[in-house]
Amino acid sequence: MGKKKLVLVGNGMAGVRTIEEIIKLTKDQFEITIFGSEPHPNYNRILLSKVLQGDTEVADITLNDWSWYEDNDIQLYTDETVVKVDSDRKVVVTDAGRIEPYDEVIVATGSVPFILPIPGADKEGVTAFRDIKDTEIMLKASKKYKKAAVIGGGLLGLEAARGLLNLGMEVNVIHLAPYLMERQLDPMAGKMLQTELEKQGMTFLLEKQTKEIFGEERVEGLRFSDGTEIEADLVVMAVGIKPNISLAVESGLEVNRGIVVNDYMQTNIPHVYAVGECAEHNGIPYGLVAPLYEQGKVLAKTICDVKTEPYKGSVLYTQLKVSGVEVFSAGDFTEGDDKKAVKVFDEQDSYYKKLVLRGNQIVGAVLFGDSSDGNRLVSMIQKQADISDTMKVSLLQPTGQEAGASLVATMSDDEIICGCNGVSKGAIVSAIQTQSCTSVDEIKACTSASRSCGGCKPLVAEVLQHTLGSSFDSKQQKEAICGCTTLSRDEVVEEIKAKGLTHVKEVMFVLDWKTEEGCSKCRPALNYYLGMVNPTGYEDEKESRFVNERMHANIQKDGTYSVVPRMYGGVTNANDLRRIADVVDKYEIPLVKVTGGQRIDLFGVKKDDLPKVWEDLDMPSGFAYGKSLRTVKTCVGEQFCRFGTQDSMGLGIQLEKKYEGLQTPHKVKMAVSACPRSCAESGFKDIGYIGIDGGWELYIGGNGGTHVRGGDLLYKVKTEEEVIEITSAYLQYYRETANYLERTSAWVDRVGLDHIREVLDDKEKRKELSARMDKALSVIEDPWKAIIEDKKLKKELFETVVTS
Ligand SMILES: Cc1cc2nc3c(=O)[nH]c(=O)nc-3n(C[C@H](O)[C@H](O)[C@H](O)COP(=O)(O)OP(=O)(O)OC[C@H]3O[C@@H](n4cnc5c(N)ncnc54)[C@H](O)[C@@H]3O)c2cc1C
Ligand code: SF4
Repeated sequence: MGKKKLVLVGNGMAGVRTIEEIIKLTKDQFEITIFGSEPHPNYNRILLSKVLQGDTEVADITLNDWSWYEDNDIQLYTDETVVKVDSDRKVVVTDAGRIEPYDEVIVATGSVPFILPIPGADKEGVTAFRDIKDTEIMLKASKKYKKAAVIGGGLLGLEAARGLLNLGMEVNVIHLAPYLMERQLDPMAGKMLQTELEKQGMTFLLEKQTKEIFGEERVEGLRFSDGTEIEADLVVMAVGIKPNISLAVESGLEVNRGIVVNDYMQTNIPHVYAVGECAEHNGIPYGLVAPLYEQGKVLAKTICDVKTEPYKGSVLYTQLKVSGVEVFSAGDFTEGDDKKAVKVFDEQDSYYKKLVLRGNQIVGAVLFGDSSDGNRLVSMIQKQADISDTMKVSLLQPTGQEAGASLVATMSDDEIICGCNGVSKGAIVSAIQTQSCTSVDEIKACTSASRSCGGCKPLVAEVLQHTLGSSFDSKQQKEAICGCTTLSRDEVVEEIKAKGLTHVKEVMFVLDWKTEEGCSKCRPALNYYLGMVNPTGYEDEKESRFVNERMHANIQKDGTYSVVPRMYGGVTNANDLRRIADVVDKYEIPLVKVTGGQRIDLFGVKKDDLPKVWEDLDMPSGFAYGKSLRTVKTCVGEQFCRFGTQDSMGLGIQLEKKYEGLQTPHKVKMAVSACPRSCAESGFKDIGYIGIDGGWELYIGGNGGTHVRGGDLLYKVKTEEEVIEITSAYLQYYRETANYLERTSAWVDRVGLDHIREVLDDKEKRKELSARMDKALSVIEDPWKAIIEDKKLKKELFETVVTS
């Protein structure tokens, strides 16, 4: 029987998690297609708050990268919105006019932010806080403007406000209620939170109703219903969300506030399911990931025809992600009639804890100042634990803790540690005992604990410490290279050397990989490590490489490629330029652009044209797609510039010719400037060279990208021979000790400048490293030429389908 067609509408957290659950249950039952309105692969929306607060970057919050879809044979259409589920024809229709048939379809369209319907809400500078685009708007505005106003003193508003403060803005938070987070906290905790955040620099305008946003094209301020005004050049609306049901309405699904689903996430139309924030179960649309993931599990089993418990609703609990403030709320936290409270308030240390009881059961909790008991209390609420024999106040001060023992020691195995992903203490202990996990990262890989908001990391570390006892080493928390293994990079490299392993699959087999095929993280990493250990004997496994490296060109948004020919030191000549111009005309290349690295980039080359373009260019590959030496940027130097003291172009060309094609853990950029004015920006490259009187200064670990870092001065040397010897030794040491995909800037920070100097100061070691570098360089060939000359390879690459 052929595979059934499964279509997911919405490439967000709940939908993709459901697909992950389905893939765990069956690999070959479905042909999966995913549509997402956003242009990104599936990312962790929760961490947008951390991006805004500067703790992480947009690039680091991807949950499943492009290759995950490719590896799982999933057809992904990003930037494409489904406009109708036509259940009569069993197809979905998109805004691009695509018609995709389905056997089963999951609607996971999430929520849309609520925008106050007030005059001026559409002005430039007014944004919601829902996705990467909104976050980028705020990041950009903070560079130019000073005054921010956040409308909404709930969880999202406060996280946005903290982020904007971190970005150097003055922040006013406007809130309709008399105290903050009134949907999760009682007045006492709300007021304590306000005091704490005021200390951090936020200003609050409570019980204020925004009537108007004024300004010309861009927002200039807010006017309130009491007639008062404030100035603002950025307004963030964080006043709530509503389930995104427009597609459902258009498609005839039953909706209320959300898409109405039963206990198996089925809608009123057969073979159409809904999951996530867009779904409404028993009258409740949920707005936090933990319940959505529970729904995803039930739905995955339902679709795969595996017996499952029905979804019965979830206990809601939440934690504010603002550094320096611990706030936790769970369940029904309001007292009254049949609900009584137990409270502990410590004015001196500023903490407050409250339990809400109905009879002998805990139904809700609020914790301020110390939220470490949060998960334990949630677990008791979920289990409807009978507490009649317990001294109630001791629930807020567990005895084990009082005695100085670890909190986790008092937790039972079924108590939840990671709320977002529903991982219990028992599951983590089992991963430690049976899968040899020894670090939080390994636990994350094995169990998913701490994969979402990350709030449970300290608790996971505590379970580790408690279970491992004296073998727990907090400093040596090793990081497994991916979820397929518990081994770290160093351990894998050691095993490759010790056991003489020679193939990616062999490494996986001998080192007991958990998955037969590995994943998109470990396959390219192993391919690199094998090549690094044995440069002359190892045959590169092209199928383990990322698509750009397989195709030797960068794939673009529209499926065409960009081509950058090598141009040593950024120096060109009439012949090369003429050939480039001819190629542009012949293949109707739509865009030619000079890059920041002083190269010429040809954009919009069709895949089939690639080998012909390379052949006609008759220039080596510029490796603009590779984890290898990219460009050596040079200034004109002593030949033309009156300040130049050295031959920067000469040295740049020499360096580029020597190291071109070298495989490195991540891309490597170099720059050579002939005087300290540094016109080639040598201070912000992986290796930068600056000419001085009588020699050169070498800078390392610079980076001008997302993690801006000025290079560290490594050495001052007199001759170009010394420059080359140190460069070889330094680059080889980086090749041998960095994690795959670790830029030199991060690597220098990790291993330390002093350590690198110590290694390179040792003349013997320096020589050995240089020699190993020469060995690695001895086998490099130009990949474009190799493909043009190898008919079989050319056929494999250009006559089979490659997706992003
Ligand atoms: C800043 C921020 C912080 C948060 N912090 C927390 C937290 O600490 N803890 C917590 O539990 N939750 C938190 N949340 C909420 C959490 O992110 C959501 O509950 C979760 O992302 C919802 O998942 P979903 O898949 O239902 O919706 P989404 O993740 O929104 O995914 C829906 C996707 O579907 C796409 N889409 C919509 N319509 C269509 C269509 N017709 N065709 C194709 N694609 C479509 C959307 O563009 C979107 O990408 C936070 C949210 C934000 C914004
Ligand atoms: S870095 Fe110095 S030598 Fe090179 S172009 Fe600039 S001023 Fe001239």
